[in-house]
Amino acid sequence: MKLEPVADLPEIRPGDDLAELIADRASLEAGDVLTVASTVVSKAEGRMVDLESYPVSGRAQELADRIESVAGERKDPRFAQAVLAESTELLIEAPFLLTETRFGHICVNAGIDRSNVPDHDLLLLPKKPAESAERIRTGLTERGLEDVSVIVTDTCGRPFRHGQRGVALGWAGMPASRDWRGEPDRDGRELGVTVQSVVDELASAANLVTGEGADGTPAVVVRDWAFGDLEGSDELFRAVEDDLVRQALREWDWG
Ligand code: GDP
Ligand code: MN
Ligand code: MN
Repeated sequence: MKLEPVADLPEIRPGDDLAELIADRASLEAGDVLTVASTVVSKAEGRMVDLESYPVSGRAQELADRIESVAGERKDPRFAQAVLAESTELLIEAPFLLTETRFGHICVNAGIDRSNVPDHDLLLLPKKPAESAERIRTGLTERGLEDVSVIVTDTCGRPFRHGQRGVALGWAGMPASRDWRGEPDRDGRELGVTVQSVVDELASAANLVTGEGADGTPAVVVRDWAFGDLEGSDELFRAVEDDLVRQALREWDWG
């Protein structure tokens, strides 16, 4: 498996056609996986916003005040308001905001970024990253680049461990995970529970190549990796009914 960043992409602006910009700079082949950082997908989709466009509700003010008293640092209540506007459920209220975004991904601050956003205060995640991935894939097909899978990624923290890593927000052209259940291990014992989240693993690998700062390499071509003939599944985000952590957070008393 090889990972190669797409070189020389410009600063992305609202309305830019990412499929075209990438197709002009990368030699894509059938079977490749293309990862694209959500940051540039959001920029192309015009998801940059300013704090002043978020009039503060009582709830946002309360959250900002609580975070300030718990974490000791001032939280702009307009930022809390932006997070609420992008979310369907608030799971942790302090010392940081953990929410479910409107498209079902759970992350801190609804994934709103303040880095790599020129001329605006904030960059929201793409509205529907799966549709963004599909649009890029279709755009590539229209340019004769057939059978390229696309993953829209973000850098995300995780519970229990320090450090952030790449995750998949949306994907097209491949299943999210690969089901090893029923496959034998080396002793012939059947695997009972292993479902491998390949889109996250590819996103993490690609994120090593994109970097997090000023590198300017938001897109990566993954070559010579094959999904294989295991069953695929598109279930990545847990349903509430089988998400014990979410259920526990719902019952937590925030005081
Ligand atoms: P995120 O992980 O999706 O939140 O994105 P990051 O802010 O970590 O950026 C990922 C990569 O994309 C880094 O290499 C950035 O330098 C690069 N990047 C961000 N915005 C742009 C842009 O508009 N144009 C180009 N060429 N690179 C960008
Ligand atoms: Mn991000
Ligand atoms: Mn990143």
